[in-house]
Amino acid sequence: MHFPELPDRVAEVRQRIAAAVARGGHGQRVTLIAVTKTFGVEAVQAAWDVGIHDVGENRVQEALPKIDAASVPVRWHLIGHLQRNKARAADSFELVHSMDSARLADALHARGLARGRAIDVLLQVNVVGEASKAGWAPESVPAEAERLTGLAGVRVRGVMAMAPLDASEAVLRTTFHGARAARTVLEAAGHPAAELSMGMSSDYEIAVEEGATMVRLGTVLFGSRAATAAGHAHD
Ligand SMILES: *Cc1c(COP(=O)(O)O)cnc(C)c1O
Repeated sequence: MHFPELPDRVAEVRQRIAAAVARGGHGQRVTLIAVTKTFGVEAVQAAWDVGIHDVGENRVQEALPKIDAASVPVRWHLIGHLQRNKARAADSFELVHSMDSARLADALHARGLARGRAIDVLLQVNVVGEASKAGWAPESVPAEAERLTGLAGVRVRGVMAMAPLDASEAVLRTTFHGARAARTVLEAAGHPAAELSMGMSSDYEIAVEEGATMVRLGTVLFGSRAATAAGHAHD
C-alpha cells in the first residue's frame, strides 16, 4: 500500500503542532509518533521516508512481526495494554506508554532486573475515571510514585493519558491538565518523568497546547483504518 498523501499530511501536522506549542506557551519539544496499527510494514517505511523516527503499535502480537520485518531503524513505542505474562516483549520497544497497573509495574520491574537494564515506561493515568480504561486514578498517583521509587527495574519517564472518545473541549483540557499534574507528582518523587504522551488524531492540538511532549497519530497520517480492523482500533 502506498501513502501518497503522507508528505503533505505530515507537513501540515508539524505546522499545527508548532502553532499549538506557541499558543500553549509550554515551549516543549514534541515527538510525533506515527501509529501504524492495522497497516503493514510499508507504513513504517513511509513514515521513515518523511522523517518520522518514532512508530507506535498497540498490540504486541501485531507489533513483533512488524518490528522484525521493518528495515528502517525507527524507535518502537508500545501504546496499548501489555499482559503481565508478556513483560518480556517490552524488550522490543524503546518505551512502554501503557504501564497501567501496579501488577504490570511489578512484572516490568522483574523483567528489567532480569535483563540487567531498566525498562523505560510511562505511567498511564485514567484522569477522568473512565470505567473502560485502565490506569491509575489521579488520587492514587502520589502513593504509586513513592512505591515506584523502589522498583529499580523500571524507569518512569512520564505520563500517558487518553481522553474519552468524543470529549468536549472542556473534558479534553481537564484530562490533559490532569495528566500534566500527575507528571509533576512523579517528578517531585524523583522520577525522570519529563514526558507527557497525550493527543491522538482528533485532539492532538489541544494536547500540545496543554503540554504534550509526544503525540500518537494514526488516522490523520495514514487515513482511516480498515473496517475489518475496527475491532481493536481503540484497544
Ligand atoms: C490507535 C491509537 C492512537 C492513534 O489513534 P488515531 O485516532 O488514529 O490518531 C493513539 N493512541 C493509542 C493508545 C491508540 O491505540
